[in-house]
Amino acid sequence: MAAPERIDLFNGKDLSNWTKRDGSPAGNWIVEDGVYTVVDREGDIVSKETFGDAMIHVEFRVPDMPDKEGQDKGNSGVFVHGRYEVQVLDSYERDVPGYGDCSSLYDRHAALFNNCKKAMEWQTYDIIFRAPRFDADGKLTEFPRITVMHNGLPVHNNLVMERMTGAPLTEEMVAEGPLLLQDHGNAVSFRNVWICKLPPKGADKY
Ligand code: MG
Repeated sequence: MAAPERIDLFNGKDLSNWTKRDGSPAGNWIVEDGVYTVVDREGDIVSKETFGDAMIHVEFRVPDMPDKEGQDKGNSGVFVHGRYEVQVLDSYERDVPGYGDCSSLYDRHAALFNNCKKAMEWQTYDIIFRAPRFDADGKLTEFPRITVMHNGLPVHNNLVMERMTGAPLTEEMVAEGPLLLQDHGNAVSFRNVWICKLPPKGADKY
């Protein structure tokens, strides 16, 4: 089987590959030289592309907001399947990252350690996602699992996600879903967002 293709979710020009949560055209985020920046109240963006199992690469940059704290400081998020939020926040130099800090699975699982860079430096997420499994009747048989590399080191190691996080697109787990990038009112930027769809399993042969 050939290696999967890398699918760029940003076309470098506009948000025509994305919608709002309700499926209407995406709002007016700033797009400049392949960098996409949240504009407060223009809304979350949801990829038209959907995937099951996948590797997901995201580069992000939080703004410098020295007068702000906690959830008001560089907040955004990368929602896998639109349902599992890998938090984006300025958590630089926080000794013990918590459920709400950068690279947490928001409000569920804290990162194993803090590997944040400073505000205004580009950072990476490389996420390996195993989608939930369903039987022929649509009953859930396996929860999804997620591994998250933050700036090249694993901050979540094959977590079983028994619950969704943040504000999911719907209350149901799905076999295939989109990527969602959050507008939390802060001017967080993204670039080089791509996915590789993975086959659900290898061949049944020796
Ligand atoms: Mg967030």
